[in-house]
Amino acid sequence: MTAQPDAHPHTLPLPLDLRSDEAVATYVQQRWGRLLEDAGAGAARRYEEAEACPREFLRRAADEGLHRLGLPQDVGGDGFGPDVWGRVLEEVTYQCDEAALSLVVSMSTSIAQTLHQSGDPYLTAHYVRPLVTGELTATLAFTEDADFFSWETRLTPDGDGGLLSGRKCYLTGGLLSDVFLVYALAHEGRLAACLVHRDDPGVELTPAGGLGARSAGMAALTLTGVRLAPERILTWTDGLDHSQWYLNERRSMQASWTVGRMRQLVDRCAARLRTVTRQGRPVLDHANVAAGLGRMHIATDVARTMTHDVLDRQARGETDLVYDAKISAAKHFTAEQALLIAQEALRVLGGHAFYGDEYYGRYLRDCAGLIPAGGTQHSLEITLGSMVARRLI
Ligand SMILES: Cc1cc2nc3c(=O)[nH]c(=O)nc-3n(C[C@H](O)[C@H](O)[C@H](O)COP(=O)(O)OP(=O)(O)OC[C@H]3O[C@@H](n4cnc5c(N)ncnc54)[C@H](O)[C@@H]3O)c2cc1C
Repeated sequence: MTAQPDAHPHTLPLPLDLRSDEAVATYVQQRWGRLLEDAGAGAARRYEEAEACPREFLRRAADEGLHRLGLPQDVGGDGFGPDVWGRVLEEVTYQCDEAALSLVVSMSTSIAQTLHQSGDPYLTAHYVRPLVTGELTATLAFTEDADFFSWETRLTPDGDGGLLSGRKCYLTGGLLSDVFLVYALAHEGRLAACLVHRDDPGVELTPAGGLGARSAGMAALTLTGVRLAPERILTWTDGLDHSQWYLNERRSMQASWTVGRMRQLVDRCAARLRTVTRQGRPVLDHANVAAGLGRMHIATDVARTMTHDVLDRQARGETDLVYDAKISAAKHFTAEQALLIAQEALRVLGGHAFYGDEYYGRYLRDCAGLIPAGGTQHSLEITLGSMVARRLI
């Protein structure tokens, strides 16, 4: 059995100066403003050319303390809770034109959180601490584009360790990562979880295409007879539960990232509309255009409020660590609203959103990925629906 996650997250109280939205914005600008500007400068070109965001920006983010902010103090983090980290993640995403930066950093810190929950001293020393300092970057290797009962990726016993072979088809930040949290089929249809290194013999990473996230170093991972020492095998049997710890935490961070993108879209749209005239009148004087912008704002503000509420509940230790209905609802709602306001932008901007500014294409492509990522919307709806039916929520 794997250890159960700690029911009481090690968090510091929300510092006073981060209570207001303005204070978070100022804090992020002062601490990481230069980095976000530098990373954002090449974002459009990299996206166009499907070039991964340079590791240099990840290193700078780590050196400037972004990774450690929301991680526990006993492993070298600053010890702020999900309430602070989620708000900062949202703001970093909002202030940076390179959306891959916060996405990849947060994937890695979510893995650090999951490994820390095990309380295993070996994992803490060899993975959690280096993830906190940014010496290592990690990502998730779960999906194979197949039912997990028929996964190709298998872990078989090999002495006191394991032998891993198979293929994972789509890893966020795969090309930028050093460590992969891999889930594999083990004996009797149970799921195992293990840690694989980029430089392990038998590991091959290849760029993966896709509709969006084109600068996020998306990759496929091929594993051919990769030998794993026993300490790299987190569980032989409870991989499904283990993956839920990760996904549960991940969903609120996905929601935070999404809200940052939504705020960016609304701002960009408003800035453009302020400069446009039609029939000699500012286009915003047309009630239909102002109303469209209003709808975009409402959707974003509600998604943001919902996400902050979930982050605050997480920080207070009020959420279920394996599957939390409110966290799932926040992931679901933000994803739907993100796409809804993309449509609204197309309506109010006219052709500009399609051919006048490439930004809208990046937004639309990336936000389409929010529907399947972190558990499909359908799967969340089914689970939440059955919880409602059984009066569990
Ligand atoms: C932007 C992006 C980033 C990603 N990053 C990563 C990553 O870093 N690491 C990683 O491992 N994966 C990653 N993925 C993959 C992602 O996790 C999967 O796409 C997602 O979990 C859905 O799985 P699937 O693609 O197998 O779809 P499926 O689960 O096969 O879904 C296909 C359809 O079947 C339905 N369905 C499936 N099962 C059921 C059921 N039991 N009951 C009813 N309906 C069902 C679904 O709702 C959907 O409509 C990423 C995907 C995207 C888009």
